[in-house]
Amino acid sequence: MVELKLADYKAEKQPDWCPGCGDYGILSALQMALFELKKDPTKTAVFSGIGCSAKTPHYLNLYGVHTLHGRVLPVAQGAKLANPHLTVVAVGGDGDGLGIGAGHFVAAGRRNVDLLYILYDNEVYGLTKGQAGPTLGLGEKTKSLPKPNPQGRINPLLLAFASGYTFIARGYAYDVKGLKELIKAGIEHKGLAFLHVLQPCPTYNDLHTKEWFAPRLYRLEEEGYDPHVPEGLPPEVLEKKMARFQEKALEWGERIPVGLFWKAELPTFEERLQAFLPRYPGVYPAQGPTEPLDLEG
Ligand code: SF4
Repeated sequence: MVELKLADYKAEKQPDWCPGCGDYGILSALQMALFELKKDPTKTAVFSGIGCSAKTPHYLNLYGVHTLHGRVLPVAQGAKLANPHLTVVAVGGDGDGLGIGAGHFVAAGRRNVDLLYILYDNEVYGLTKGQAGPTLGLGEKTKSLPKPNPQGRINPLLLAFASGYTFIARGYAYDVKGLKELIKAGIEHKGLAFLHVLQPCPTYNDLHTKEWFAPRLYRLEEEGYDPHVPEGLPPEVLEKKMARFQEKALEWGERIPVGLFWKAELPTFEERLQAFLPRYPGVYPAQGPTEPLDLEG
């Protein structure tokens, strides 16, 4: 393959997000991660749902599909299973993934298909004028709401954990370098990786702005936190790790952690298919050259 430059991953189309939107930082981090991993754009696909964040594939010079509201994970998983050689990244907002798409979010965790899902969390439905999203806290009132939010918030990290995601991390949209490293780690993880990104929306969310986040964020590694969960841990050690994960996942307010929270090694859905479906390896070889799909065989 010809040596690629960072610019080769950028589409000609320029983003039309609002000035100062956190989406710009996520897009830059994703482009840099793919470039540094030397991912072949002809073997990489980025899928999105609906929302401001869903425009991401339009700004990348590689394959991509802008799918339906809440449906990004079924499409991304299908693509990966049909072609295990593809690097697959799914993206979407908190409304897309944890509102209408919540059932797919949970079901994906049960499978552990080898892909990365990046959730852009701005706590509002930005594309439709800032209604409360599923991660906005109870009683919180952004400038786009006439009354305080009467519903409680979903904790994306805890839901991912309960659903079985084998890689769980949180990044911050304005920390592009840190986010890039988390994206690289998520892409390289064998299994389903979930990356929760705190993404300020300066247009509709005047509560959780970059000025609000700046003094609160800290990196988990500063506290010596160990996210690795090797196979075969004694139950009492695993229990302690789970309790520590829960404590950190619930931390929100004066201090907010970012970094890698959980990384477990478990068989992927592809490997499990190979184990009980003899036809799978032949039709979709796990190694070697990609072969055309044999729908008749
Ligand atoms: Fe970004 Fe919010 Fe504007 Fe959407 S509405 S582009 S999330 S700043």
